[in-house]
Amino acid sequence: MTSPARPEPAAALREIIPAGGRWSGRLESGDRLRITDLEGQQAVDFLCYGADMPLDRMNLPNTIKLNRSLYVTKGSRIYSDHARLLFTVEEDSCGYHDTLAGCCSNESNRLRYDVTSTASCRSNFIAELAKWGLGPSEIVSNINFFMRVPFKEDGEVVIAHGISKPGDQVVLKAEQPVIAVLSNCPQEHNPAAGGKPTPIAVEVIRAAAA
Ligand SMILES: [Zn+2]
Repeated sequence: MTSPARPEPAAALREIIPAGGRWSGRLESGDRLRITDLEGQQAVDFLCYGADMPLDRMNLPNTIKLNRSLYVTKGSRIYSDHARLLFTVEEDSCGYHDTLAGCCSNESNRLRYDVTSTASCRSNFIAELAKWGLGPSEIVSNINFFMRVPFKEDGEVVIAHGISKPGDQVVLKAEQPVIAVLSNCPQEHNPAAGGKPTPIAVEVIRAAAA
């Protein structure tokens, strides 16, 4: 006699996102999103939205003000336009994530590097947001996980080589239903992705299975 079937816990998802690739997913409250920089020095451009109110977008000025820091790291809270808490950073083995530089785009690459038709995080965001019925106007200033953008007292800002090591990761805990969107930065013209974009791993750990 077989025992009664037990409901399976919601399976954890793990995907390898290739160099230059993109991903998005919905997380419920209490789910975790783990992003791993598999080879080091790989920028991961990140957006998120309240799933119950997708136009309530991640808001970095609110996030910076309420955390009293320009950097995102363990303990940081990610807030929305309506100052609702979207994510808390639970773990961070790198310690440095950028809130200043935004995403790369065809247009800015043309101005900065005189190149045309490059792969870009903005193009990745546009393609990924379309899956959720969201358009380019919903692209806001994004977090750049594992990307290093130091600034000087006089305000000078540069994109520097990242300090993330192979296997460094961040774990984000969803504080309400959220849509997370990321671009594994394809940039080859500055050090955002170490000059040579590499794969990352994305995992969703369901609260029900934790
Ligand atoms: Zn990029």
